[in-house]
Amino acid sequence: MAYSNTQLFIGGKWRPAQSGKVLEVLNPATEEVIGTVAHAGQADLDEALAAAAAGFKAWRAIAPFERCRIMRKAAAIMRERNEEIAPLLTLEQGKTLAEAKIEAMLAGDVIEWFAEEAKRSYGRIIPARGPGIYQLAIKEPVGPVAAFTPWNFPINQVVRKLSAALAAGCSIIVKAPEETPASPAQLIRAFADAGVPDGVVNLVYGIPAEISEYLIPHPVIRKISFTGSTNVGKQLNALAGLHMKRATMELGGHAPAMVFKDADVATAAKVLVAAKYRNAGQVCISPTRMLVQDDVFKEFVDKFVEGAKAIKVGNGMDADSTMGSLANPRRVTAIEGMVQDAVSKGARLETGGHRFGNKGYFFEPTVVSDVPKTARAMNEEPFGPLALISRFSSLDEVVEEANRLPFGLASYAFTSSTKTATAIGAQVEAGMMSINAFGLALPEVPFGGMKDSGYGSEGGTEAMEAYFNTKFISQTGV
Ligand code: NAD
Repeated sequence: MAYSNTQLFIGGKWRPAQSGKVLEVLNPATEEVIGTVAHAGQADLDEALAAAAAGFKAWRAIAPFERCRIMRKAAAIMRERNEEIAPLLTLEQGKTLAEAKIEAMLAGDVIEWFAEEAKRSYGRIIPARGPGIYQLAIKEPVGPVAAFTPWNFPINQVVRKLSAALAAGCSIIVKAPEETPASPAQLIRAFADAGVPDGVVNLVYGIPAEISEYLIPHPVIRKISFTGSTNVGKQLNALAGLHMKRATMELGGHAPAMVFKDADVATAAKVLVAAKYRNAGQVCISPTRMLVQDDVFKEFVDKFVEGAKAIKVGNGMDADSTMGSLANPRRVTAIEGMVQDAVSKGARLETGGHRFGNKGYFFEPTVVSDVPKTARAMNEEPFGPLALISRFSSLDEVVEEANRLPFGLASYAFTSSTKTATAIGAQVEAGMMSINAFGLALPEVPFGGMKDSGYGSEGGTEAMEAYFNTKFISQTGV
């Protein structure tokens, strides 16, 4: 499939914005304009809201078994079209084709898992205090949802929200990323082609702030879900609070990865290199602060640097590239600045540190070690191919460092001691912890943060809860 211009999807129809306005889409590996995306204005949003209101009425009335059947069809379509969809994702986002194929393929798993959960939207019957009384707690879909998703996983960030919302019986307006519009549009197309009724799923693009400021307070919208930076998340959450809208917030992270002296250091380095440079580090659960116990510090640094140097950076469409370009020039400037700042404050540049190539937003896989806590990168989320390696000597010290930042999304630990694993599991303030492997982000497990990383879950049964209201009914005398 050639890269195509992306339209809005409103009330079951693909169409341009009423104003005819479009935004350009760039290939981040070449900086060439590859297409356009329709730019929704208020009139388009009003149509989307009316469609979502009508879609909600229709969809909630469809039995969960039937919802599940339609959603499973969408999963099958995503799998069938993988070879067509993945190149669109690489062309607009920069990640390697192999990563794009995995992302598009895993969308099928996410859809299927939530589709099956639709059938298990159980409530409860609470024992009553007298005969002939039924006390029922039932789950009802919360209503039309507004979802705001970023450019780092253009399909994955949408599919989690969309699948949970639809499984629960909600309709949705997705405001997908303008920088990477074509691949999420293919996800929406899969649902439309699977037979989701008109208005249940709607897709818009435009100026993010204009769209969120219009949709969040609107009475039709009953829930919002946002994935992106903590700063923006706090603003949207405040607006949601003002209008009493339910919210799920998946925000930034700064994951500590703790490597203890009793760990399998080679495995730790291998797992962490793969996790760090996946999607060129533009991943909210990317391991970022590698905290390594003194005794194995040198061994870990050597192995990690060896792994980073083995990465072949290049255009994501080239079969031999193992890391693609960054998604936009903002990340290149940000990473470059963080490296310079860390080195100026005394950190050691082990490898990388520079952008390269005459065209495209490429940056070398970078490792800095012995980074002072005052360095910007030790406090702000790098969101790029930058690994920071620091030392620690005791469990208490590493827990203190892990919990030092306001973020609390992912965390990692490597140890062969059950005692250490248990202590770390209990003491680290993070919504997710993976010990001795990379084991996060499957559809069936909780996915979410605490502290400034937000709240709510986008995986597991917890993710369904976000799209339900619990209604209590006490029934007697019938
Ligand atoms: P940004 O903060 O401007 O935008 C982040 C995302 O939020 C984008 O998708 C953007 O379209 C959206 N957005 C921004 N303002 C919005 C608004 N008022 N209403 C609705 N949506 C809005 O920054 P950016 O340069 O695009 O990304 C950089 C930072 O964002 C990263 O450093 C990282 O911390 C964070 N980020 C996090 C994730 C994640 O998976 N949690 C994904 C992408 C970006």
